[in-house]
Amino acid sequence: MKNCGKCGVLLELSSFKDSSLASGYGNYCNACKKINNRKSRNRHSKSDTVSKHPLNKSKISGLRGPSFTNTELSSYEIGKSYEIEYTNLQNKKSKRIVYIESISQNSNSFRAYCHSKEYVLTFRADRSKILRIY
Ligand SMILES: [Zn+2]
Repeated sequence: MKNCGKCGVLLELSSFKDSSLASGYGNYCNACKKINNRKSRNRHSKSDTVSKHPLNKSKISGLRGPSFTNTELSSYEIGKSYEIEYTNLQNKKSKRIVYIESISQNSNSFRAYCHSKEYVLTFRADRSKILRIY
């Protein structure tokens, strides 16, 4: 079993099979890869007047993102500690005090030392909300 880096869903390894990769398995599940391919193709063919409209943009992000309010990745600073509310893949919320060790813009996530687990974990910014800055 493996967590998809895109949708975060726990899936069988067979869902990650990618013969074009040396490891034989990708980080994103095949369903996400298909969606990505389709989207990038559509983006070029559709007229860009629609995407420039700010109202449409917010509608799209509202549909794609989770239903709770998160804190933007840019609000986190390496070397600082935060109390965050983290919503896990089962949509369970928990409060954690974390110390930011690194930030990955590419995956919209940060690696942080979690004081309650006493372990460095990766947190997705779209699932985290800052409650307090230390
Ligand atoms: Zn996926």
